[in-house]
Amino acid sequence: MGSSSASSPAAHSGPASLLWFRKGLRLHDNPALHAALEGAVALYPVFVLDPTLLGPARVGVNRTAFLLESLRALDAGLKERGSRLIVLRGEPLAELERVMMQWRIGRLVFEADTEPYARVRDAGAAELARRLGAELKTPGGHTLYDPGVLAEAAGGTLPLSYGSFLKLVAKVGEPPAPLPTPERLPPVGDLGEAERSGIPTLVELGHQEKAAGLAFVTPGEQGALATLSAWTSVPARVAAFEKPATDPSAYAPAATTRLSAHMKFGSLSARTFYHALREAERAAGAYSQPPTSLAGQLLWREMFTTIGAVTPNYDRMVGNPVCRQIDWDDTPALLAAWTEGHTGYPWIDAAMRQLNTEGWMHHLARHSVACFLTRGDLWQSWEAGQGVFDRLLIDADWSLNAANWMWLSASAFFTAIDRIYSPVAFAKKYAGARSYVRHYLPELAGVPDAFLLEPWTMTAAQQRQAGCVLGRDYPLPIVDHAPARERNLSRMRAAYARGRKGESPASG
Ligand SMILES: Cc1cc2nc3c(=O)[nH]c(=O)nc-3n(C[C@H](O)[C@H](O)[C@H](O)COP(=O)(O)OP(=O)(O)OC[C@H]3O[C@@H](n4cnc5c(N)ncnc54)[C@H](O)[C@@H]3O)c2cc1C
Repeated sequence: MGSSSASSPAAHSGPASLLWFRKGLRLHDNPALHAALEGAVALYPVFVLDPTLLGPARVGVNRTAFLLESLRALDAGLKERGSRLIVLRGEPLAELERVMMQWRIGRLVFEADTEPYARVRDAGAAELARRLGAELKTPGGHTLYDPGVLAEAAGGTLPLSYGSFLKLVAKVGEPPAPLPTPERLPPVGDLGEAERSGIPTLVELGHQEKAAGLAFVTPGEQGALATLSAWTSVPARVAAFEKPATDPSAYAPAATTRLSAHMKFGSLSARTFYHALREAERAAGAYSQPPTSLAGQLLWREMFTTIGAVTPNYDRMVGNPVCRQIDWDDTPALLAAWTEGHTGYPWIDAAMRQLNTEGWMHHLARHSVACFLTRGDLWQSWEAGQGVFDRLLIDADWSLNAANWMWLSASAFFTAIDRIYSPVAFAKKYAGARSYVRHYLPELAGVPDAFLLEPWTMTAAQQRQAGCVLGRDYPLPIVDHAPARERNLSRMRAAYARGRKGESPASG
């Protein structure tokens, strides 16, 4: 990556810029950073730890740790360029108002964010800038395309199918090339009061347990770019990537890039990721295609984020015009068993324990557990599952989480309701499933391979011999899959027959 025009305080007489980082935790391909630098006499890079978005009840230890380490990495990158990150704690608008007045900020810049909480917050920030007489810039940067541009190109109604979305993207053209990384940044001025703040520890934020997920993903843009380059430096691997063929039981290393946490926090730019993949594909000659290719995964992200940006109530069923209205049950005991990995189905439980301990699981494992919770076995609302994922995933992303839960529960995007994952037969397709189960469910370590994915088929004597007595060491299945499948399928057919669903989302 090249360098942009180096900025120095002496060279400009422009405003003091405050760059408010939220996502977009990177210096490469960062449109907000470029907008903040334009002619600025001083640059104040700020991150505000927002109590509404933090705390153990709201966010698991892995995501909190990932965020804190990402902030440290961002601070290091800024320091290498003559700047630093200023980390504040508190209600963002109150903090911004305080420091904008103290530092006499003439320009406020942040990356546009389409999530509902962010929209309300950012409207307040825009009003604050107006009140303080500061210029406001909010360029995009989280996605390949500006969601508004795609919605407009769609002529009012965004397509809900991937094929049509690809056509829309083709109409708009290739995403813009990444922006260069600045080599030098203007120094931060006198910080006054804010100087006392820094990046807190996990314990200070109320987390006692270990962030085991950080063993698999290195926070910060350098970590992201290193992982990306490890993939793209082997073009044949990128070219051969077919998502449905990747193995959900592979965990160390995973069969997919595991770059999702970086995409969530923006420590990897979508455009940098996409263009690097396209370059690797071209280098390889022949390559897989969307929807299954790696570049195709980024287009799923694009589609789900863009639709989320214009769809009311995207993260819930009621009032969501793309979501089918289904009479889900509400059984807290079933939800709790699923959440904790105590369903009695080892494949489901191993995946949920992986989520609990490491904050990640493979896409097809997400398919399995989401189908199991909703239309497959337990008939619980996708919103409940979405909430659990939102708390525990490192990569929890408001749009992607909602969209994929709607998909798996056949509430939107996907309608092949009789395609239901078996919590046993599906796992049997993977040679690694048994070691995956043994790794995440140590209580099953002594169970012979033949019974491992369906331990209830062991006799009482076999259970004693394996050191795993069902009902004592590991639960009996909380549901009988075959009859549950049939029962749920007929409930789903009835919901489809009622046909209650709104219109396609309008652009807006
Ligand atoms: C029920 C359910 C909930 C999900 N919730 C989230 C979530 O909160 N956050 C999240 O990032 N992904 C979510 N996904 C999508 C997907 O499972 C993850 O993005 C993926 O497993 C992350 O691993 P990876 O980075 O190795 O993916 P790779 O296969 O290496 O893909 C590269 C990138 O493409 C994007 N991507 C891949 N698959 C999808 C997809 N189906 N939809 C949208 N973008 C995709 C991600 O940014 C990912 O990092 C969910 C999937 C399901 C079934």
